[in-house]
Amino acid sequence: MKHVLVLGAGQLARMMSLAGAPLNINISAFDVRSENIVHPLTLEILGSGLQQAIAQADVITAEFEHIPHDILAVCEASGKFLPSTDAIKAGGDRRIEKALLDNAGVKNAKYAVIETRTDFELAIERVGLPMVLKSALGGYDGKGQWRLKDLDDVEAIWSEMEQCIADSDSQAIVAEEFVPFQREVSLVGARNRNGDIAIYPLAENVHTNGVLTLSTAIDEPVLQAQAAQMFTAVAESLDYVGVLALEFFDVAGQLLVNEIAPRVHNSGHWTQQGADTCQFENHLRAVCDMPLGSTHAVRATSMVNILGEDSVPDEVHALAGCHVHWYGKEKRAGRKMGHINVCAENTAALKQRLLQLADLLDDDAFPALKPAAQAL
Ligand code: AMP
Repeated sequence: MKHVLVLGAGQLARMMSLAGAPLNINISAFDVRSENIVHPLTLEILGSGLQQAIAQADVITAEFEHIPHDILAVCEASGKFLPSTDAIKAGGDRRIEKALLDNAGVKNAKYAVIETRTDFELAIERVGLPMVLKSALGGYDGKGQWRLKDLDDVEAIWSEMEQCIADSDSQAIVAEEFVPFQREVSLVGARNRNGDIAIYPLAENVHTNGVLTLSTAIDEPVLQAQAAQMFTAVAESLDYVGVLALEFFDVAGQLLVNEIAPRVHNSGHWTQQGADTCQFENHLRAVCDMPLGSTHAVRATSMVNILGEDSVPDEVHALAGCHVHWYGKEKRAGRKMGHINVCAENTAALKQRLLQLADLLDDDAFPALKPAAQAL
């Protein structure tokens, strides 16, 4: 029996726990908000505090990147933390992420860092309009972002950004050129302590209001090779151990990295039913010093996020190839509550199945589903 302590107690720790059980890997989770050690499935508080949990763990890992640096430091000091704190910090700070990508020679959108009004003027010169402005710290799912298309809006956007910079320590804004992409894709892969790498097929992602709503595994060898080369460059530059996700913009077949996530990723949930070994198991294999499992896609699969809903019609469970995964969370508007993996023999059958699923679900709650299925 191995014991893994996960920093963060959300759905990713939950799904690691489910994937770890058959391998005799036992997970406990650190809830960063309450600072309690909890059971990842029931969220029941377990007796031990962080220090004791660190002492008892064989390995410590993380399910998200916005972890207070003092907690990361304590975990790092134990010598049990994987991936490195540098990787976690790169995922949580867009300045570090951009520098990392540049150092690894991986293409990303042109950018400039803004701390002052003068920096903003320089960024407009260097990056050009239109631009996307993102808070360096704490931004995710499109939060903490502005779009500047017209110089007339500079004052209004600056007053909001100035407030954002003042609101937290060492905050800044990263200005990025607006990328006229055709679509967004992501790559999830794992690297273990031996340096072995196993990469899943790319997923094509649909975002609605900045939040991922649908991911479909795709089979495009040329793009896959490009993405895999970038994945390897980033993973090796960090001496990364665990599952790592890269999100890309696809601009006419040329990939630019948008973001890296030093963890299992929402766009990799399809692997639970669509791949030989799911991303959660491969993360645990990597950090527990085991051989990686095959990342081969075993059938055509899409993942549909369930946002702000805590039930689906019974007929969904009757639909062949549909697998519902709930996260056990209380319902809140827009909250990631669960997902549905939809599998089929081939893309044509997957399209039919997604259309059948769309007919069963409320269009308002799943606005991306029907158009994405039609476009398959
Ligand atoms: P992010 O939080 O960086 O993933 O951004 C959220 C979403 O905003 C992305 O999924 C894109 O759809 C869009 N976006 C972010 N950065 C850019 C950019 N530089 N150019 C165009 N769209 C962007």
